[in-house]
Formats: sequence, structure tokens, C-alpha cells
Amino acid sequence: MDFFSDNTVGASPRVMAAIAAANDGSLLSYGKDDWTRRVEERFAALFEHEVAVFMVLTGTAANSLALASIVRPWGAILAHQEAHVCEDECGAPEFFSDGAKLIELPGVGAKVTPEAVTATLSRMHAGSVHQVQPQAMTITQATECGTIYTPAEIAALKQAAASRDLRLHMDGARFANALVTLGCTPAEMTWKAGVDVLSFGGTKNGALAAEAVIFFDPTQAEEMQWRRKRAGQTLSKGRLLGAQFEGLLADDHWLDLARHANTQAKRLADAVAKGSQARLAWPCQANEVFLVLPQTLQQRLKAAGIGYHEWSVRSLPPEAPLKDGEIVGRFVMSFATKPGDVEKLIVTIAD
Ligand SMILES: *Cc1c(COP(=O)(O)O)cnc(C)c1O
Repeated sequence: MDFFSDNTVGASPRVMAAIAAANDGSLLSYGKDDWTRRVEERFAALFEHEVAVFMVLTGTAANSLALASIVRPWGAILAHQEAHVCEDECGAPEFFSDGAKLIELPGVGAKVTPEAVTATLSRMHAGSVHQVQPQAMTITQATECGTIYTPAEIAALKQAAASRDLRLHMDGARFANALVTLGCTPAEMTWKAGVDVLSFGGTKNGALAAEAVIFFDPTQAEEMQWRRKRAGQTLSKGRLLGAQFEGLLADDHWLDLARHANTQAKRLADAVAKGSQARLAWPCQANEVFLVLPQTLQQRLKAAGIGYHEWSVRSLPPEAPLKDGEIVGRFVMSFATKPGDVEKLIVTIAD
């Protein structure tokens, strides 16, 4: 039984069925097919906006190519220090942007704050040839600590960066999980709050391997077809990417999958609040639960064969530090998480 991540399971059966349906017959290659065109139309309708859509295979490619599109090589990208782009992409954002610099910001629960943005920008001198020039900011929704930004918080970040006209990118590897918690529209969580470019996550939501870079101003996407090809992310059998999003987006399947994952996470978080030696490291706002685990519970989980990742503690609230022997464990729920497994986990860590 494992709660390591939401990418340890395969794809939703509906996505597999869509891939099988797209498998038949001969169609134009390199994204010139009907499956790709229909996904572009679907995203435009979903976001109630004109969009330019570029499907790729991984989140690292989506984030790196999106960021490379909105900064110059001497640009700087503001990001939280725990962000996937800083911690988990092996320098790909720097590589694909020809050397733009990631500037790491602190913040509780892996959230960037307007204060940190203002403070950082104030020590970066506009026009100084000696310094990288801030040109973009990236935020993760839901964050690496399972928290979320409200549309008002996103708008406040955009506002804090307005003096330097930063483009705003959102890493939406867990976009659906954040959206169902907020109950707002995809438009409200993105362009209406100031997001310029989005990495729309498919894989963790239930796709096999599909992410989409979505530009809300298609004029910013003019170079993207070349960037994607140079990165080896332009699939010749592009319809198999389109099919995955068609399978996810049809009948709001993606939202149902995210709701299931979030519901399982909330069950665990609620049970911990009711009575356990564990406590929540950050509020549970999507499909991940981060628990402060004393040694007794670490041992019980090990004995029960329940897998989880030990997590970074850099974003803990300063007023709630760890005590001796405690660690933070990350428990991730997916579309495929079995309620019975969550029950076993709850019983294992109950008082
Ligand atoms: C999983 C994840 C990604 C995507 O990672 P890949 O392994 O490159 O597909 C991007 N951002 C966040 C926050 C993630 O959790």
C-alpha cells in the first residue's frame, strides 16, 4: 500500500479507451489531426478565452518551455524555493531558456507572498547590465505543500509584480485538484487573475503522459512550435496526446477524478484532526496530506507496510517547528486511491 505520489498508478480507464479509439485509422501526423484540433477547441471553451495550446509529454517540458517563452536568457524568474522548477527539474528551466535565472523566494506552505515579491524586486536593479532582469514569476497550483492560492491571492501576486511587468506562469500539475477545492471557474483561477501561461497537468489527474502548455495571449506563443520541436516534444503520433485530453475532459471526467482524490485526502486530514499523535503540517486543501509524524507513528506505518515520502520542512510555519524525532510525511491521494486503503492508514495512525 503506498501513498508516495499521484503518479504511481496508471491511467484512468476512460483515458485508455480514448487512446484505443484514436488508435484506429490513418490521420495526419505532428498534431495536424482532428483529435488535437478538438482538444484546442475544448480548452478555448473551458477557459472562455482564445488560447494557444501545445501538448507535451512531461511536466518538466511543459514548465521549461512555457518559461523559456516568456523570458530572455538574461531574464530572472521568481519562484518559491520549494517549487518543482527549482527542486525537481534538473535545471531544465535554465537549460531551455538558455540560462535565465531562477530566483528562489521563501514562504509558508510553499506559497509565494506579495511581500516576498516586492522585497525581491526592490533589490533587483532595473536596467543594470550587471544583473539579470526579472521578467517572469511562476507559482504552483496546488503547491508542493498541498496548499492552494485563491484567485484573489493570485491577483495580488500579479499586482506585486506589476511595477516590473512580470509575466505570470502557473505550474498546474495539480490544477484540477485546486480547482475543485476552490469551486471557481478555470478562467477565474487563471487569466482573470493575471496568469499568462499555464502548464495544465494531465498525468497526475489520470492521463497516461500528457500535459498542455496553454497561452492566454497567443501572440506570446509564436516561437513555441520551434521550441517544442527542439526539445523533442513534438509527437509524430500527436493524436495520442489529444486523445488523452479528450478522454479526461469529456463529461467533466477530470473533475470527477480530482474530486475523488481530494475526498480521500480530506478523510485522512479530518481523521487526524479528530485524534492522532500526528498533526497536519499545512492545511489539506487538495489531494495531499502532510503529517508531522512522531517516531511511534513512523514505526507503526513501517510495520503496516504503508509507503510515503519524507518531505522538506523548509516551508513549515515558524511558530510550529518540529520536535525531536519528528518528520513530515507526504501522503498523496490519486484518482485510483482505494477508500479501503485510506481506512487502513487512518486506523494505523489513530490514537
Ligand atoms: C509532478 C509535477 C510536475 C511534473 O513533473 P514531470 O515528472 O516532469 O512530469 C510538475 N510540477 C509539479 C508541482 C509536480 O508535482
